[in-house]
This record gives sequence, structure tokens and C-alpha cells, in this order.
Amino acid sequence: MHAARQGVTMIDTAEYYQNYPAIAIALRERPDLTVITKSYAWDREGALASVSRARHEMGRRFIDAMLMHEQEGELTVRGHWDALTTYRELKAAGEIGAVGLSTHRVAGVRAAVKFGMDAVCAIINVDGIGLTDGSRSDMERAMTEAHDAGLFVVGMKILGGGHLIARRNDAIKYILELDFLDAIAIGMASEAEIDYNVSIFQGRVPNADAARISGETARILMIEEGCIGCGRCAERCGQGAIIMESNHARAIPERCVRCGYCAAACPQVCIKIV
Ligand code: SF4
Ligand code: SF4
Repeated sequence: MHAARQGVTMIDTAEYYQNYPAIAIALRERPDLTVITKSYAWDREGALASVSRARHEMGRRFIDAMLMHEQEGELTVRGHWDALTTYRELKAAGEIGAVGLSTHRVAGVRAAVKFGMDAVCAIINVDGIGLTDGSRSDMERAMTEAHDAGLFVVGMKILGGGHLIARRNDAIKYILELDFLDAIAIGMASEAEIDYNVSIFQGRVPNADAARISGETARILMIEEGCIGCGRCAERCGQGAIIMESNHARAIPERCVRCGYCAAACPQVCIKIV
């Protein structure tokens, strides 16, 4: 709610995040907020259930954009074709505004263009952190092509999952100069961080307190006691940020973008992002 009051106009969420009820509270006060959500559904039944859940739990009849979550490229899109077709039908029926995908990969952006989608949400940041199949300039080119093809292009992970917090101003300056971005999604964990980021985005100087607190929000991934060495986290991580050593998971911090996918996959609940 604080973000909406400070001038944030879009919420980027996902079924996986399980935060629709909290968003519903903000939408009651600010129904004009644009809501982008994502689903891992691959078939018609799953896609219908995802849209129904989003509408019901967020208390909103219309979903601005429904994205296929974490798509890698053409092959994964083809594997989710029934879901894509269903979203397009719902768009034609006026229940969804735009259909697209989210991705950590250049190939994902290119697939969104190739298959005529309306929107794409992809990783972009000054150091190219989190890109798994190309460089920052490769992603800039792919996003430019998407923008030129008429897609609504959203940049995410602009602070590289926390790696760029110490260089936040440079990272945001880089993003604000990208003319192919239609929207920017940035994860924020406190009111101070919201205040700080909104100030920068609006061209104002953040107050000293917000700057101090915001600088303390760097997060790390921890693997606590209790690991049974099942390897599910390493399999789930598309960044190669977890390896198995001596039947135990070990994080490689410099590769981690703090997406949290591994934590949800751990049957022992021993992965934390703190
Ligand atoms: S949070 Fe987990 S899944 Fe995400 S990049 Fe880091 S190690 Fe990989
Ligand atoms: S998923 Fe959890 S229990 Fe399994 S290897 Fe990873 S940290 Fe260990």
C-alpha cells in the first residue's frame, strides 16, 4: 500500500509468490494499479485455474497481463501452448489485457516476439547479472526488437537480485536511460526502500534516513542445517547458483539472483534468503 501511495503504478506478481490477498488490499484503495501476474500452467485446465485464482484472490475481474512464468525459449513456449491459447481466448473475451511471458533468457524474449505475444518481462541490469544465455548487449538487442514489434517490455531484476545494491544509483540510472522499456519492476522490502527508489525514479534526492536504511537491504541466500542432499534446489536453480558437494547443497552467491525458487523446492525448508 505504501508503494501505491508513493507513486508506484504497477504490481508485478506471480501465482507462485502466494501474495494475491495482500495485493487485493492495495487494489481496494487503488483499483487503477496495473497488475501483471504469472503462472506455470501449461495446459488449458491449469491456465483457467490460474486466471480464476488471480481474479478471485485479488478481487479483480480484469487481469492486465497474464504471463507464462520463467520461459526459456521457443521449446518451453511450445510446451505451454495450450495455456497460451487459453490466455488468448480469455483476452478476446475481455478478461485479460495482455498475454506474454517472463524470462531470464535472451531466447525467451525472442520467443515472445516470434509467437506474437503482447508483453515480455525479462532480466536487464547494468552488469547483465542473471542472464543465462547471453550478455547485457544481447538482451538489450532482444528487448529492442520486442519493443519495436509492439510488445509491452518490462525490465526486472534491475538490481541483479541484490548484487547491485551498493551501486543502486548507477544501476537505476542505466535502466532509466533504456528507451525500449515500457515499465520497470523492482523488488522492494521496506517502506524506506520504496521511499528511496521512488525518489530516484522521480528525479528527487532521497532523504538521508531512507538512503541509510535502503543501503542495509542487501540479502543473501543461506543453506541452514537440515540439508539431506536431495539435490532438488540445484536442479531447480536455472542460474547454476547451487552445487552439490559431499551430499550437501552449497550456494554460489555471485551467481544467485535471489529469486527464491530453490527455497520453495526444498523439502527440508532449510534454504532462506535473509
Ligand atoms: S535464489 Fe535459489 S534458485 Fe534463485 S538464483 Fe539463487 S540459488 Fe538459484
Ligand atoms: S533441496 Fe534442501 S534438502 Fe535438498 S539438497 Fe537442497 S538444501 Fe538440501
